[in-house]
Amino acid sequence: MATVTALDSRKKKASETSVSAPAEASPERKTIRNLSPADGEPLAPVNVTTPDEVRAAVQRAKRAQAAWARMPIEERAERVLRFRDALVENADRLVDVLVRETGKPRNEALLHEILVVADLASYFAHNAARILAPQSISLHFLVHRASYVHYAPKGVIGVISPWNFPFAIPMGDVIPALLAGNAVVVKPSEVTPLIALEAKRIYDSTGLPEDLFQVVPGDGATGQALIESGIQKLIFTGGVATGKRVASACGAQLVPCVMELGGKAPLLALSDCDVERTARAIVYGGFCNSGQACISVERVYAHRSIHDPLVRRVKELVNELKQGDASKSFVDVGSIIFGKQMEVAEQLIADAVAKGAEVVAGGERVHRAGNYFQPTVLTECHHGMAVMREEIFGPIVPIQRIDSDEEGIALANDSHLGLNAYVFSKSRERALRVAEKIEAGSVVVNDVMLNYGACETPFGGLKESGFGRVHGDDSLREMCDKRHVNYGRIPMPSRDPLWFPYSQTSYSIFSKGLEVLFHGAGLVQRIVKKIP
Ligand code: NDP
Repeated sequence: MATVTALDSRKKKASETSVSAPAEASPERKTIRNLSPADGEPLAPVNVTTPDEVRAAVQRAKRAQAAWARMPIEERAERVLRFRDALVENADRLVDVLVRETGKPRNEALLHEILVVADLASYFAHNAARILAPQSISLHFLVHRASYVHYAPKGVIGVISPWNFPFAIPMGDVIPALLAGNAVVVKPSEVTPLIALEAKRIYDSTGLPEDLFQVVPGDGATGQALIESGIQKLIFTGGVATGKRVASACGAQLVPCVMELGGKAPLLALSDCDVERTARAIVYGGFCNSGQACISVERVYAHRSIHDPLVRRVKELVNELKQGDASKSFVDVGSIIFGKQMEVAEQLIADAVAKGAEVVAGGERVHRAGNYFQPTVLTECHHGMAVMREEIFGPIVPIQRIDSDEEGIALANDSHLGLNAYVFSKSRERALRVAEKIEAGSVVVNDVMLNYGACETPFGGLKESGFGRVHGDDSLREMCDKRHVNYGRIPMPSRDPLWFPYSQTSYSIFSKGLEVLFHGAGLVQRIVKKIP
């Protein structure tokens, strides 16, 4: 069997080569052959879906969706809960696959991936009927008419997902899409296709319509084919550069899309913060999932008065972290999922050190089988360094001193990204005042990372972090077409005075009406104001 020799080049391998195929595949078929980042051992090969197969999958999904959409929402919810139960029953198996494929610690696989999805499934299944109930709109002017909106499933939703949370991110889109009456086709990252296929296997075991949820493993070309295959909406999660290409492709097809892109989450440690909690939050937020989260703590701004004790405590806590192969033991920090990120980390550290940063913890790769990079803390950082401005997506926390809340806010906002941010202060009032000035989709006070797990809250970015939202009640509505219906509340004459024929008389009447209604504090407005 041909195998790639280093995980670092996995992305290239799948998209550029046609390595010898598994026995059942044709010799021309491209195959993804990844190595486990935990120990460098080969993982099961996966066939790349061809564009024709993607189109066929979307067609099958469309047919399955028609019957699914006719089903009462309560019944859909009941079936989705069956799928949730099957995921929970198979949690250990899912954790095993996740740990082999990503090298993340078992606790993180269980909590950040499986639990988050099971909880999201429960919330949306129990609330979908309420969220998607028709809503009436009272008309302030055309009072003889009435309006309401109702929500109709869109059809087939495409999901293109990254490798860092390869279960929670796509499944967090799949479940609401199904509840809303849609079919879903997922293109997982070529770096992590196995967990999506495992989720599909579990889905199939629940008796839900097979074609309603499909997985099309592959590379960028597979994603491109999905966009062009007749889907009604795309939910994309990935990097900014890819996101721009994907958004253009969606634009060319007029496919509406949600863009969940990169993050550069600042953490503001204000002068009155709880130093111990803040230090622990920095270490957890910076190094869980080896820093490979769009909401990881990517830069710290620490007030001068608490900077030194904070750095000291962060350093001590980092030295206590256990790093290693999560498939063999319970470790705090696992491996780097996509090996190329280690080169990115090395370049960012070198640039920062050249510009005056001090490495107070870590700083290098760990030389062992698999992909491991030491949890790294840099101090004396400033915005002249790439590490403070570019997305790291790895286990590095750079720290910069600040002199005031205002300086912290200005530095937090000095970024092309705006996904998540964190503020630490013992004063809720002060923290909220600062939080509201930060340009980010979500700001969390005195905690880190957890907002992605609060599925009833909207999640998404500002600036180049993207647009649209996942999670939150509106995200379920946005999986549907919002359709407006307007009808008469009182009988109208057959000859409607607003219709043809036009005349000088009707014009004069309307002209007077305009004056009465809107001129200055018009008569009608004065009367309306007097009504208690
Ligand atoms: P990429 O942008 O490289 O890839 C994302 C997905 O897009 C993958 O499935 C990829 O396939 C696919 N893709 C690549 N090219 C195309 C194309 N031309 N058309 C359609 N699809 C394409 O991101 P990563 O996988 O490297 O993930 C890391 C990024 O994701 C980080 O920037 C991170 O911040 C961001 N992210 C954002 C989150 C958010 O919610 N805002 C959450 C998590 C991560 P393939 O992998 O096979 O190339």
